[in-house]
Amino acid sequence: MAEVAPARFGAVEAGGTKFVCLLGSSPDDIVARTRIPTGADPEVTLAEVVAFFAGPNPPAAVGIASFGPVELRPGHPRYGHITSTPKPGWRDADLVGPIRAALDVPIGFDTDVAGAALGEGRWGAAQGLSTFVYMTVGTGIGAAAVVGGRAASGLGHAEVGHVAVPRQPGDTYPGRCPYHGDCLEGMAAGGAIAERFGRPGERLDGDDLRQAVEWQAGYLAEGLRTIVYTIAPERIVIGGSVAELPGLFPRVQEKLIATMAGYGALPEHAADGFVVPAGLGGLAGPAGALVLAENALQAG
Ligand code: ZN
Repeated sequence: MAEVAPARFGAVEAGGTKFVCLLGSSPDDIVARTRIPTGADPEVTLAEVVAFFAGPNPPAAVGIASFGPVELRPGHPRYGHITSTPKPGWRDADLVGPIRAALDVPIGFDTDVAGAALGEGRWGAAQGLSTFVYMTVGTGIGAAAVVGGRAASGLGHAEVGHVAVPRQPGDTYPGRCPYHGDCLEGMAAGGAIAERFGRPGERLDGDDLRQAVEWQAGYLAEGLRTIVYTIAPERIVIGGSVAELPGLFPRVQEKLIATMAGYGALPEHAADGFVVPAGLGGLAGPAGALVLAENALQAG
């Protein structure tokens, strides 16, 4: 009796410097992978993506998790496009259209952060949960909420990195968000740490490291309080390079409990496993694109 092989999907994590493409069914079953530099001409880059998938065994569906901002509203004339990016050549670039036209399979599409969230939900640090938040803290800060198993979006997508946060005691740094100055991203993304201390977070030690962790934990805790009060997630997963500051996680959770000040606080918020590091690392985005592909196939 022939074994029925799992459906094979295509995954694209579209980033500002490279497109990571996978063919497979899960992070443990990747049959081919490639990295394509994000060129100045989207047509050329997307033709390389199509060439990777077009072969004797094309995928049953393709998922794309993209840098943004992107248009996610099905039926909108610009659905599947990157919209207002400053990246040269990519403003108003259609990602979904050319790939769907060339491969003639269902295409799933979402933000890179939502993709990473779905990947963590299926195979990483949020397995088995239906409502959780994935946050990435690196050169920027972004977060996606998975609610009832689906990445939430409505008009546009969430921009959690730009919520307002109260200034931490003793921090005189003005912030570096070009729009808001001292929003969460302006105060707590990687560049803010590097500018405050004159070197990047991964090279801090001694008193500078202790102070960076203290402020970083404080700002992230304020951002997480907003998330806890608006989404009521079962867990918050944090990835990205800044999440690797030593000693950060326990302090974030302590400061989250402190800033909630007892209001709406449950024992689960203070328990191990409420605020946790990401489980899939750099594979979260491409893995999430596999989930987007599967969802697209099921939706027909
Ligand atoms: Zn901002």
